[in-house]
Amino acid sequence: MKLRARSLSRRTTTATALVCAALVGGGVAYAATAEPAITTFTPRSADQVTNIDVLRQQLRNYYGDPLGTGTFAPDGNYAKEAASVARAGSRWLDDRGHEHGRSDYRDRHHHGTKAIVLDVDDTSLTTWNYEIASNWAYNPSTNGQYVTDQKFPATPGMVEMATRAAKEGYAVFFLTGRPTSQEAATLGNLTSDGVGVDAGYPAPTQLRNGEDGLFTKPDVAAYPDYLQKACAADPGGKCTTIHYKSATRAHIESLGYDIVANFGDQYSDLKGGYADRTFKLPNPNYYLP
Ligand SMILES: [Mg+2]
Repeated sequence: MKLRARSLSRRTTTATALVCAALVGGGVAYAATAEPAITTFTPRSADQVTNIDVLRQQLRNYYGDPLGTGTFAPDGNYAKEAASVARAGSRWLDDRGHEHGRSDYRDRHHHGTKAIVLDVDDTSLTTWNYEIASNWAYNPSTNGQYVTDQKFPATPGMVEMATRAAKEGYAVFFLTGRPTSQEAATLGNLTSDGVGVDAGYPAPTQLRNGEDGLFTKPDVAAYPDYLQKACAADPGGKCTTIHYKSATRAHIESLGYDIVANFGDQYSDLKGGYADRTFKLPNPNYYLP
């Protein structure tokens, strides 16, 4: 459940909630000022930024798709960079897997079952085809059709990484901002249900408490206790991405898992702790706070 699936606010200005707080003592009310979701510099000259059409071409080149067909090249720079992150993840998991297997390590760390956490969009599955189809203008309705039709191919290197981890005994969990309503299609795209793309990931590991290991984002009204608590101060009680994801990782660890690696393409996937190490997949197409 990333904002992305994605809920409405992907890439848009965060309407920083109109929090009207009436202070008990003084009776002073104030409204928070709306701020852009992305903090950056203000160009003094147009020459200080890349022309957006030139930038689009650079992105097409980076994905090895200079003509913008929507299919990225397996030997393009994006694929190479993503696969390189996946390999770095595998090396880390190999090393930590061996440590976990040693009884002296287990005695020193009461960490529980080793696990990995993977974001979905542009971490496990690559949405390049949708970026091209939408001309980089996210729309929940057209995006939802891609999700429903299970149209996203695997991110290069990531199936191999996750498969190897599963064989080494890691629990494999997926944590996405996609809403609960997209859970079945997401599972089908990630694994293999014969509909659309079957990326070939290992099935998510069922948790000890019976949860299914694919965490999608519920409506606020259906938040479990751990999200209600973690996000109580967020606008409307609705979790920011960082709070949603970090609270879910905390929940996973509270059930006796040690998240050895957390993979994401957005910094909001990776902030907030509850992972021994984070791995950032490349994504120059959008920014989710
Ligand atoms: Mg993502």
